[in-house]
Amino acid sequence: MNLDSKVVHAGDRKRTGGHVPVTTPIYTASSFFYDRAEQLDRVFAMEEDGFAYARYANPTNAALEELITALEGGAGTLACASGMAAIQIALTAALMDRRKSVVAASALYGATTSVLMKVLEPFGTEVTLVDICDLDAVRAAMGRANPGAVLIETISNPLVRVPDLDAIAALTHDAGAALLVDNTFASPMLVRPIEHGADFVVHSATKYLAGHGDVLAGLVTANAAHIELLRSLSRAYGPVLGPFEAYLTMRGVKTFALRMARQCENALTVAEWLGAHPRVARVHFPGDPAHPDAAVIRKLLPDGRYGAMLSFELREGRREDVFRFMDSLKMIVPATSLGDVHTMVLYPPMSSHRDLSPKQRERIGITEDLVRLSMGIEAAADIIADLDQALAV
Ligand SMILES: *Cc1c(COP(=O)(O)O)cnc(C)c1O
Repeated sequence: MNLDSKVVHAGDRKRTGGHVPVTTPIYTASSFFYDRAEQLDRVFAMEEDGFAYARYANPTNAALEELITALEGGAGTLACASGMAAIQIALTAALMDRRKSVVAASALYGATTSVLMKVLEPFGTEVTLVDICDLDAVRAAMGRANPGAVLIETISNPLVRVPDLDAIAALTHDAGAALLVDNTFASPMLVRPIEHGADFVVHSATKYLAGHGDVLAGLVTANAAHIELLRSLSRAYGPVLGPFEAYLTMRGVKTFALRMARQCENALTVAEWLGAHPRVARVHFPGDPAHPDAAVIRKLLPDGRYGAMLSFELREGRREDVFRFMDSLKMIVPATSLGDVHTMVLYPPMSSHRDLSPKQRERIGITEDLVRLSMGIEAAADIIADLDQALAV
């Protein structure tokens, strides 16, 4: 089945008693029982599929998990309360039986870098950050760090760099480490990292998968070697998603393929328009033939679909120029998220990269004139009209 069909069918329509609900109900029950205690005993022992206690499994979450596994591949998925909860439990599972050393991309989502530096390191895990698009640097870092886990993102924030997933998977496995890929920006429509050798795929489902700016959720899909460990850690820690949020996420995913296709199209159109605008010095977009990772992008991403995130530099832009531009927008929403149905604008030095000094930001290419756009599903003409009038102010 194609991804466009899987999103509307996978996980749903489980027979309960005599009838089949067309969509999965929200199960709020915290515990479940059976006619015979013997059966509950078998469910607890995991000798029989079923539900016993909601921290272990819940039918609404199980439906969402089945759906995401159908999209990402892999052996199973865990629905978590947030993207950060998903990253935390995936890292714990990856490092469980391995050396407590992580090699990670230097340009990760801000909170992920914080977890590495402010939680894992104080707990005794070595952390090595490396320019993940420089394979020689990655090779050298792996040699020095001897990692138990490698953590990367398919498309980086906000400069939309795309690392060579296949090469990194090979290096990771040569080192005996596990590869974790945060696939939030690319989504399974563009890349399915398990097919490229990832052991864990993580999502902030808050973004493209749920897509409507109304739910916080995370997902971890694991391969066969790691799914049981992941589930047992979840039973112990309990980072599970609530059933209302699982329902909202699943409802969002049904239109994910449609939304993402439109968002990718809009991004292509808007990136081209921005590139020709006299007030724009530079556009960062994976669909640009002159992108620094163009060769990897050709190999990894489908033709014509380059994601729906882009950033651009305002010519001679200072902070106050960027603020004036953002304040002048009439339709585009200046809020801190991405992947929603509405187009959003964000200023990295103020939000995602606020904790870095201007010098540190400059070093990783996040200049004071950089603006990030997350394309929505509106008509491209309206997005362009809004950008045009705000750039003229
Ligand atoms: C938002 C985001 C996260 C964190 O997800 P939450 O749902 O906010 O906890 C992690 N990684 C990436 C790439 C994100 O964009």
